[in-house]
Amino acid sequence: MKKILMVILVIVFVTAGIPFLIISSFVSENKTEEEQEGTIETISVYIAEEDRVEDMNVNQYLKEVVAAEMPAEFYPEALRAQAIAARTYLVNRINAYKNSQIPEEHKGAYICTEATHCKAWISEEKRREMWGADKADEYWGKISDAVESTGRLIVTYNDQPISAVFHSTSSGFTENAKDVWGGDVDYLVSVKSEGDEQSPRYQDEKNYTIDEFKKIAEEKIEGVNWDNYIIGDIKRSDAGGIISIDVGGIAVKGTDFRFMYDLRSTNIQIEQTDNNIKLSTKGYGHGVGMSQYGANYLASIGKNYEDILKTYYTGVKISECESFTVN
Ligand SMILES: [Zn+2]
Repeated sequence: MKKILMVILVIVFVTAGIPFLIISSFVSENKTEEEQEGTIETISVYIAEEDRVEDMNVNQYLKEVVAAEMPAEFYPEALRAQAIAARTYLVNRINAYKNSQIPEEHKGAYICTEATHCKAWISEEKRREMWGADKADEYWGKISDAVESTGRLIVTYNDQPISAVFHSTSSGFTENAKDVWGGDVDYLVSVKSEGDEQSPRYQDEKNYTIDEFKKIAEEKIEGVNWDNYIIGDIKRSDAGGIISIDVGGIAVKGTDFRFMYDLRSTNIQIEQTDNNIKLSTKGYGHGVGMSQYGANYLASIGKNYEDILKTYYTGVKISECESFTVN
């Protein structure tokens, strides 16, 4: 009986041991420590500005996204939160395109550098120009640290990478995803955001003469009629953003209204006089998910990246992603 057990144990060890030995022989001494750990991985990026696809080191790509998306002057914990959000977006896209077609605009790459399509990205030459020679190394060091120190961390909900959307500045409350884009997302719900009023982009206003206002509406909205009023009923979200607004008898989505009149957010107050319409806004961006200036405020009062991400993404976890490898 003992003999049989020994034989079984030997068989189990040998069969389980073989793949282990094969794998470890591939991780040869020629590779660096990072390569052996599998931390160096590449991702295909479509660089829209230069109309070419480049296989980039994942961390290099993420650093260049953080450099483009958040002011480098921000506190380290805010930059870390931003790095994790950018990594989460990347993993979310890789997962999505594994199961469906890569969008045509990407020319076969998993991600692109078009801010309005994927995430903004900035080349070394451009960021050096933006930061100036005296600050470039310091800022790049801060951003590199934010990406490297957060390793493989991503934000998950039900064990899936979230759609880690963010915006510059909130109105004081973030918006529900459903009030801005229509679809309900459990972790993208309105929360109080502190410190946004310290953002240089917190308040703005645009003034239009009544004639200018009408002309823009007539160009963009079919069937407007000014017989009774210019602006009618306004439907607002709990956070104060305009969900829909009646312009000359036609209901217009708040997001469409924002872009028609070149406004910074949908959190709009409207004052109409005999000749003029004043549109005042609070916040900058769509208002959903993480507020970057809010994140920086939280970092300034000693909160860490986890506190920041969990403030803006409701009910999420911070998890390690397994791999970026897609091929
Ligand atoms: Zn894209």
